[in-house]
Amino acid sequence: MNQEFNNMLNEFKAYLKDIEYLNSTSAVLYWDMRVCIPKKAIPYRGEILGYLSGEQYKLQTSDKMKEFIEYFSACDELDDVTKSMVENAKKEYDQTMKIPEYRYKEYVIATSNAEAAWEDAKEKSDFAIFKPHLQKVIDFNKEFIEYWGYKDSKYDTLLDFYEPGITTEKLDVLFGELRDAIVNLLDKIQNSDVKIDVSPFNKSFSKESQDEFGKFVLQKMGFDFNAGRVDESVHPFTINFDNKDVRITTHYYENEFRSALFSSIHEGGHAIYEQDVPDSLKGTLLASGASMGIHESQSRFYENIIGRSKAFWTCFFPEVQKRFPQFKDVCFEDFYKGINVVNSSLIRTESDELTYSLHIIIRYELEKAIINGDVNVDDLPDMWNEKYKEYLGVEPKSDAEGILQDMHWSGGSFGYFPSYALGNLYGAQFLNAMKKDIPDLYENIKNGNLNVIHLWLKDNIHQYGKVYKPEELIKKVTGDTLSSKYFIDYLNNKYSEIYNL
Ligand SMILES: [Zn+2]
Repeated sequence: MNQEFNNMLNEFKAYLKDIEYLNSTSAVLYWDMRVCIPKKAIPYRGEILGYLSGEQYKLQTSDKMKEFIEYFSACDELDDVTKSMVENAKKEYDQTMKIPEYRYKEYVIATSNAEAAWEDAKEKSDFAIFKPHLQKVIDFNKEFIEYWGYKDSKYDTLLDFYEPGITTEKLDVLFGELRDAIVNLLDKIQNSDVKIDVSPFNKSFSKESQDEFGKFVLQKMGFDFNAGRVDESVHPFTINFDNKDVRITTHYYENEFRSALFSSIHEGGHAIYEQDVPDSLKGTLLASGASMGIHESQSRFYENIIGRSKAFWTCFFPEVQKRFPQFKDVCFEDFYKGINVVNSSLIRTESDELTYSLHIIIRYELEKAIINGDVNVDDLPDMWNEKYKEYLGVEPKSDAEGILQDMHWSGGSFGYFPSYALGNLYGAQFLNAMKKDIPDLYENIKNGNLNVIHLWLKDNIHQYGKVYKPEELIKKVTGDTLSSKYFIDYLNNKYSEIYNL
């Protein structure tokens, strides 16, 4: 490459680094706001975060940015990293520039009002409070899709923001197969003679002992405590300032052993991914996970596929018994079944590994109908409840335990939900590839050598950051396009054994 190209590339990276600095600064302030801010400081903090995002917006939409994008888009034979860096910057630029600025500002206000209305509506369990705001947010999304453009399905445009390359056409097949398989398995489980006792998990467990054990497990998984922290917040989350400072939070319940532990393992999966992203990707906007779905594949892989496996607890159960006398009379089998118990429930965030995807598929089907069709917002609570009855056999008695349970729609995040179930599909397909590469995988896990998992994920997935699109990555790692087969086989095998089917 010639000198001019190299100079331009260095300049572009320095420019993108400024955007990353703003990102990191906002992230630190946001983390602080979620974890330890005094209540009275919240409004001013919101102002600062608003200011920083405005500065970021200016950099992302400047003439300078346009110049960089035009220059590099005209270059042939870019390496993978530069190519992806330019594509990503262009995508974000187009996404922002196609919306008239005044409409975008109105949208920000509309979602902020909708979030407040949602909170109020949820507390009072009254959909009517949220309804006009939801309608507004939906109308904005539909209007924006017209600006952004679409091919076959309007909803695809939204899906693509979270999971590049995924379409309604693909999801209809993948989720249709998954839904039928889970509904079938759930039906058999509900008719099974196996009854699982979860009462030992609901004894009293001090916050300190849960915290210590959670950190012990995270350490074994490969979470680097010199490049991250664990704190407490109402809703667990992961946030990264850069790969040397990735923070997770959890929430402790003293009468429930599983909740904080599995959410730590889940967030730990996200965090290890971010810690493994190489320094070389700084200044490219690619120093993060490939997509929301791939990110969820890492967290769910650790939480469920590894964290709820027999091999994992063969290693950790003795430690549990040592630390928690509450389990001294519980046998291994019962403990294992207790962490894998299946219950048709109403609330997504409290659901088990098997039924979780059904909660997502319901939201996917509704979002598709809302964005592509002409659903009357008045009908949404009933549509929601009917699907819960049909797929899970349970019916919400109130809006709060039905349509109002998630905040995603109030913030305008239509198209986000599928990422969670896609994470399950990716995860099982990765497992299949991992087992081929590491034939004694489960022996390693039993012996507490979780490092083999970490290294494999780092080599095959984490080291690439956001360089490859999800469909490129899954092909590169597993040699196959995304399929529901691996996850369905995994679920059938696991739950047939647990429930004696
Ligand atoms: Zn997650």
